Amino acid sequence: MSARIIDGKKIAAGIREEIRQRVLQLQEATGKVPGLAAVLIGDDPASATYVRTKTKACHEVGIASRQFTPPGDIEQADLQRLIRDLNGDPEIHGILVQLPLAKHLDERAVLETVDPRKDVDGFTFANIGRLVENQPQFVPCTPAGIIELLDREGIEIKGKHAVVVGRSEIVGKPVAFLLLHRHATVTICHSRTADLGSETRRADILVAAVGRPRLITGAMLKPGAVVIDVGINRVDGKLVGDVDFESAVRVASAITPVPGGVGPMTVAILLRNTLQAFERSLA
Ligand code: NAD
Repeated sequence: MSARIIDGKKIAAGIREEIRQRVLQLQEATGKVPGLAAVLIGDDPASATYVRTKTKACHEVGIASRQFTPPGDIEQADLQRLIRDLNGDPEIHGILVQLPLAKHLDERAVLETVDPRKDVDGFTFANIGRLVENQPQFVPCTPAGIIELLDREGIEIKGKHAVVVGRSEIVGKPVAFLLLHRHATVTICHSRTADLGSETRRADILVAAVGRPRLITGAMLKPGAVVIDVGINRVDGKLVGDVDFESAVRVASAITPVPGGVGPMTVAILLRNTLQAFERSLA
């Protein structure tokens, strides 16, 4: 048996096209377009690449994006002032602060400065609380992208046993809540889980968000499992996931590749969240 490969790139392109058409429609009706502010602090090359990808994607769907690139040694108060200015800017509907921040900055305090109505990454306490209560306003992009992938592939979540490997605030925890709200039975594994394989072998749906190349092998999967590989790891100049694709593809029924699986969905959902923020501002 060989698993169906879930083409996240193609699904994300479809979502981007839906967004492009909606942006055009709203522009014709209101004369306005959604605006996204990306705040990139310092000169970390990986962060710069992510922001470039996101701003390019904005451009392609007609979202106006503005980049703010304060120096790496910016003071906390100055950064928070910049964010407050963006909160008050009527042409900006979404604000993203590219993480991680430099060590001298208080990340939580910075994130809490973002107006929850413009928090298109869904990282503020207000939006996390809403997600936990199943009254979401903005859901973090990667977890929302995973659910969208499952839905668009026609994969049932209700009643399934979902195992999430990784408990980060950005991926593991929020995706676990989303799966729970869709009526999966959810197990969350992490670095102190005693016997990872015995947990993952019970998964109908496995989400790997760890950051350890090829940690999950085919032998750790239940035959027919759906495998969502969130990991992005660079090994010998090549991108690999947290799942050992070669062995997993022979056991799973469907699997996301790296690259071309979850990654493109993250960007598509960021655009969709920005569009939603804009639409709410018009209401
Ligand atoms: P993180 O480092 O914040 O969290 C990793 C989690 O994995 C932790 O909760 C830890 O307990 C767990 N873990 C570590 N070692 C483990 C082990 N041996 N067994 C079981 N659990 C273990 O990472 P993150 O921000 O959630 O990112 C995870 C991966 O996903 C990274 O490779 C990251 O680059 C990638 N990522 C991809 C996207 C995307 O758009 N595709 C978005 C975000 C993150």
